[in-house]
Amino acid sequence: MNFESYNFKNKRALVRVDFNVPLDSNGIVTDDTRIKMVIPTINKIINDGGSVILMSHLGRPKDEPDSKYSLQQILPNLKLLLNQNIIFCDDCISDESKIITSKLNTGDIVLLENLRFYKEEKSGNENFAMDLSKHGDVYVNDAFGTAHRAHASTSVIANFFPNDKMFGFLIENEIKSVDKVLNSKKHPLTAIVGGAKVSSKITIILKFLEKVDHLIIGGGMAYTFIKAQNGSVGKSLVEDEFLNLALDILNEAKKQNVKLHLPVDSLCSKEFSNDSKRYIRPINNIPDNEMGLDIGPETIKQFYNVICSSSLILWNGPMGVFEMSNFQKGTISVANAIVEATENNAFSLVGGGDSVAAINLFNLADKVSHVSTGGGAMLEYLEGKELPGIKSITNS
Ligand code: AMP
Repeated sequence: MNFESYNFKNKRALVRVDFNVPLDSNGIVTDDTRIKMVIPTINKIINDGGSVILMSHLGRPKDEPDSKYSLQQILPNLKLLLNQNIIFCDDCISDESKIITSKLNTGDIVLLENLRFYKEEKSGNENFAMDLSKHGDVYVNDAFGTAHRAHASTSVIANFFPNDKMFGFLIENEIKSVDKVLNSKKHPLTAIVGGAKVSSKITIILKFLEKVDHLIIGGGMAYTFIKAQNGSVGKSLVEDEFLNLALDILNEAKKQNVKLHLPVDSLCSKEFSNDSKRYIRPINNIPDNEMGLDIGPETIKQFYNVICSSSLILWNGPMGVFEMSNFQKGTISVANAIVEATENNAFSLVGGGDSVAAINLFNLADKVSHVSTGGGAMLEYLEGKELPGIKSITNS
């Protein structure tokens, strides 16, 4: 069912959103991006003449009400962004909440209290999902960040809306963007993978090898590949138990005709510290008492050339310890190359964890084609896994 063409007139839309936003110690929202992202979905329902019941989790409460994790704290932000009053229900399945949602007027917006105050949410309890389903006539899932979880409100609940379940704009956009990259016939397709460890990115690297023309590997994980080829990497991050796997990946890339690009030089230091003196070293000849914390200038040039000649770009993981200002040049340069390629009509997708944090830090998020909101969910989707939150909508 298509969200855009669905007419919500006189319908109560039960919308699973991801309002798991950061709060400070006074309960003030410090980053409202996740709330802003679902405003178009809410507006479409209201403009059609429907009403909206929002449900979400927030933080990690211990299966019981805890004011520290109350969604009441985000009400001021929601009111401001939607410019209207919001009805708050302090329990997501109480009789009182069901009475409220049974009598909604066109244009009303309700926010239900944190779903994770009930352990049944995470365990995917069917009765709990049925209880929740009573709030709406139609179910909209717009919480991409939790789409990889088989929870009551993200997956099980869809069974109670066999003919009236759909994604909101946000999830639709996420899926379209990944599919555009993974299923496009445009070339060259370049994947850039970085971050700390090979171990956490193996599945995604293997998946990319089936699809891409170029695979750029940077960040901490590059040193395992260099050591596997008998390079000296000093004190750099290495996962010795993955040396053989790194060699397998290099061989597999050759077999699949994928050009695998590793750094050729590295910005090193003796300490894991921003103020420590920096040395540019060939990446396979790092002194024993130094560690590589960013890619070097020659690597930056080489990666730039590959990225700028790509039509499709996928980026996951920073090129160095970008949290330290003296070691962020590699990550900024890659981000800038992606922006330049995008300006020249490439489609670029930044997905998963720290590359999203990096692109936000550099204020470049609006200069790439798509920045994903779902860290773990995006990774699993890219890896080709079936996400419960997606499957429950697409399976009829
Ligand atoms: P991940 O969550 O696997 O994408 O890893 C992201 C983390 O990798 C960031 O916190 C970076 O600081 C870290 N990282 C990137 N490059 C290096 C490196 N050369 N040495 C140590 N940590 C790194």
